[in-house]
Amino acid sequence: MLNIHELPKLDLHCHLDGSLSIPMMERHLGRAVAPAEVCVDSGCTSLTEYLTKFDIPVQCLQTALHLEEEAEAFLESLVPDHIRYVEVRFAPMLSLKKGLSCRAVIESVLRGLARGREKTGISFGVITCAMRNFTPDENLRLLDDMEEFLGAGVCALDLAGDESRYPNTLFHELFEEARRRKIPFTIHSGETGNVENVRTAVEYGASRIGHGLALIQDRDLMQEVARRGIGIEMCPTSNLQTRAASSLAEYPLDKFLEAGIRVSINTDNRTVSRTTMEQELTLIRDLYRDEEMLRQVLKNAEETAFLRQPSV
Ligand SMILES: [Zn+2]
Repeated sequence: MLNIHELPKLDLHCHLDGSLSIPMMERHLGRAVAPAEVCVDSGCTSLTEYLTKFDIPVQCLQTALHLEEEAEAFLESLVPDHIRYVEVRFAPMLSLKKGLSCRAVIESVLRGLARGREKTGISFGVITCAMRNFTPDENLRLLDDMEEFLGAGVCALDLAGDESRYPNTLFHELFEEARRRKIPFTIHSGETGNVENVRTAVEYGASRIGHGLALIQDRDLMQEVARRGIGIEMCPTSNLQTRAASSLAEYPLDKFLEAGIRVSINTDNRTVSRTTMEQELTLIRDLYRDEEMLRQVLKNAEETAFLRQPSV
């Protein structure tokens, strides 16, 4: 049987702001932080409620020093979870409140992560998130900024934010441009029940899709996703908390795998969701009681990572 605790793990969908350590946030805010301010509990009923937990962490990501220290502490916090490689994502445009540029934000996070890597041996790739509620021009500027760091710590682009209010079709130009420049991307899609967003993500040429739950509504599209080898980054605990999945009994992981889709299991937000990779993988094992399935999702993570990782 797999020893989930000791297994060297990959986490491909992990938001920096939702995964900050509470002691480091307390240091940066100069006050105590109650868990209820930055974590949801089992009573969470919507994505809107879930998103209120990001206000405080975002305040801690506004200066070069804080970004660097938070990024370093984040990587260190992954040691007990036996993470071997993490793809950590954040939206540089949310860290401009005290005058930093997107470029400076990315540089600061990369510096902190590099220091964390020296201390822990954990390798990383950064995914920069464009934001649905920002203008097309702002998102295109982010593309220019992140492109400079591509291959030097940054590995891909993502689109995050309120999917129900801002569908993927509004970002056609952004992803056309990303594709033209050969910048790999993943898109949060199908988290709020909208299968059309998954379809457009596939059409735009996404290498991976965040959550993708609504894909279960369309068998043909499932086949297309499998045929193209697109990775689906599922995050079970978060999906239950935001009601993206109504219950574990209806969780479509098994159906996606049966269709041959490369699904990986990830944390989404370690602090907000109070989770770890060990917890997510244990949840999947307890739900399906299928060791082979567990091995498959681990293999899928290796195969769909943006940076090739030597397997152990
Ligand atoms: Zn996410």
